[in-house]
Amino acid sequence: MSPGCIVVVEDEESIAAAVADRLRSEGYRVEIAGDGLAGVELCQRARPDLVVLDLMLPGLDGLEVCRRIQAERPTPVLILTARDTETDLLVGLGVGADDYMTKPFSPRELVARVGAILRRVARSAEEAGAPPRFRVGDVEVEPATRRVRRSGETIHLTPTEFDLLTCLVGHGGTVLTRQQLLAQVWGYGGGSGARTVDSHVQALRRKLGPDLVRTVHGVGYAIDAGAPEPAS
Ligand code: CA
Repeated sequence: MSPGCIVVVEDEESIAAAVADRLRSEGYRVEIAGDGLAGVELCQRARPDLVVLDLMLPGLDGLEVCRRIQAERPTPVLILTARDTETDLLVGLGVGADDYMTKPFSPRELVARVGAILRRVARSAEEAGAPPRFRVGDVEVEPATRRVRRSGETIHLTPTEFDLLTCLVGHGGTVLTRQQLLAQVWGYGGGSGARTVDSHVQALRRKLGPDLVRTVHGVGYAIDAGAPEPAS
């Protein structure tokens, strides 16, 4: 079986070509768009398993492209930024990307991260042993369909946001360090990526309320709504 289809949205042709070559050598089907609008259209047509998205694009910028792609259907997104400060900005906004890499990056590392995201998304909720539905505070979660509702209203979470939420809930209030979350949710061993965790916590707070995830300063994060209860 093919490992999947990846769309690369990047206006710098040499970077797009290098990323595409590397991904193709791993067996992925790859399609490239050179600006934001073309990227959105390509995603509608190709329905990729993952999108590698440059932040600075002519026309629509990466953030708007990310929003439009996610509005269409939940798709894992890895955002490329030119500077660490851009990554910091995105982390603060809690945009719906699954991971970030700052240029210049090693294509080998990019392929490793793409693989980790895809493996995680492919893991079914049944394998994780999650209950069919549960509730934390005013948030109701249905793992099989990855549906989340808050006070009855449907909330769209990215695949990684969903996995982070279920990981925190699964540990029932126990504090997890950023490194533990990276290992369990992203599948990374060691190294950097703490800001990626922060970014996703921000996104969960923005979408599900500021009090759901508790920051334990100097340690990490925990769910702060008590133990999950079966939803009625
Ligand atoms: Ca660019």
